[in-house]
Amino acid sequence: MTHAVLHYINGEFVTGQGSAQALITNPATQATLAELTFASTEQVNEAVAAAKAAFATWKEVPVPERARLMMRYQALLKTHHDDIAEILAHDTGKTFEDAKGDVWRGIEVVEQAANIPALMMGETVENVAGSIDTYSYIQPLGVCMGITPFNFPAMIPLWMFPMAIACGNTFVLKPSEQVPLTAVKLVELFIEAGAPAGVLNLIHGDASTVDQLLNHPDIYAASFVGSSRVGQIIYETGTKAGKRVQCMMGAKNHMVVMPDANKNATLNALVGASVGAAGQRCMAISVAVFVGDAKEWIPEIKEQLAKVRPGAWNDPGAAYGPVISKAAKERITRLIAQGIEEGATCLLDGSDYTLPELPEGNWVGPTLFTDVTPEMAIYKEEIFGPVLCCMSVATLEDAIALINRLEVGNGTSIFTQHGGAARKFQHEILVGQVGINVPIPVPLPFFSFTGWRGSFRGDLHAYGKQAVRFYTETKTVTARWTYSEDEMQASGQPNMSINLR
Ligand code: NAD
Repeated sequence: MTHAVLHYINGEFVTGQGSAQALITNPATQATLAELTFASTEQVNEAVAAAKAAFATWKEVPVPERARLMMRYQALLKTHHDDIAEILAHDTGKTFEDAKGDVWRGIEVVEQAANIPALMMGETVENVAGSIDTYSYIQPLGVCMGITPFNFPAMIPLWMFPMAIACGNTFVLKPSEQVPLTAVKLVELFIEAGAPAGVLNLIHGDASTVDQLLNHPDIYAASFVGSSRVGQIIYETGTKAGKRVQCMMGAKNHMVVMPDANKNATLNALVGASVGAAGQRCMAISVAVFVGDAKEWIPEIKEQLAKVRPGAWNDPGAAYGPVISKAAKERITRLIAQGIEEGATCLLDGSDYTLPELPEGNWVGPTLFTDVTPEMAIYKEEIFGPVLCCMSVATLEDAIALINRLEVGNGTSIFTQHGGAARKFQHEILVGQVGINVPIPVPLPFFSFTGWRGSFRGDLHAYGKQAVRFYTETKTVTARWTYSEDEMQASGQPNMSINLR
């Protein structure tokens, strides 16, 4: 039996009142998991009004109290870790191991939010002039909003609202309408941790819901994670409406393989980083760039990828799950066909992959191309499927130049045993997150998630210290205080000074 997906507005779980609806299905079976009715315009306005009203009191809650809310939330998320992973394994199709990773990476951000008193410290300079001191505070903004993608339904909402709320803001979350179930569980646990009504509101919807929120005069800042196409729209709409906006967007991450790299470690890393999570990670490796003789390893990559297969969330032999939707599968298989038409050599084609026991699933088998050139669609587009493109170049300089010509710059990595090559790569590459013998270099939450160039719009990145800056405003106070016994007596105050002589 299916159930209605609930919204959470001003401390109440409610059903959506909008006109648009969606069925939430399991991508491995197409079974209906839940029915979603989007929020009406009035409900969106109610959520923002509730967040605005709650801000007046929430911003006055002492910072250590806000930190304690995050500590209680962290403990509850840990207790319910596997339940949350199971929910998201059903609506994303992720394997259980992968789903648990999604939850865990989110919990780590909540741990960072529990450090908020230290993160909110301002700056002080005494005696900027005679008897004058200058000091700064950081203060919350007001109502903030978050728009999240389908591929990390636990981690990415947890990148946003815990840091925003720990800073003293209130929040309206609009998760992906393809996978809304995890967000409901995250909200339930946040309430159980003691969050007051209105501090966090959950609204389900689509582009028009986001547009309404972005144009709402009572929202101060918007955080977005999703595709580059939508990120551009959100950045333009949000900044035009006067909002502070950060957009973490699409990618095309390259791994450079030097001929001196440890072969086994490199091949293992490449297989996991390219087809793991069905390639539906913004930090997935979608292009392997072989320098010099390293290209001779391509047949071995084919052998290893051929052994990997997708499967159901609870199948221990499955390396990854189905892709999110039939539309996503169609897009991926269309790009594979286009790659073949445009002259790339397809060493493995997963387009027709099926699982006899789950024939309805959106399966795509591991796919491997070589002889890929920068003009091809499989190179230019973010495929977001289990597809690895191989390219060969003569030198490390050529590999760096290739990557630096890309519009995007989310992540990259180099596999080598040569410190000098690694140093040159880390220094010259125009990409914001670099791995050295690490295929997917996602920084932990005490750093920030620092995609560059076309993978990011805004000034301050997600989580870490940059998120605290994103969700706050700095107030700088310059104060003159003088003291003399005569002034004190003239003002009629008792003399409380202690005579030390
Ligand atoms: P998407 O852009 O289709 O959707 C993301 C969100 O935007 C959803 O909540 C959706 O409802 C909303 N949306 C869709 N169209 C909109 C419009 N026209 N106006 C306003 N809002 C709109 O992304 P997706 O397919 O859910 O997620 C995959 C994408 O996210 C990939 O491109 C991936 O690289 C990217 N991603 C980036 C990061 C990062 O940190 N850079 C992390 C995860 C995913």
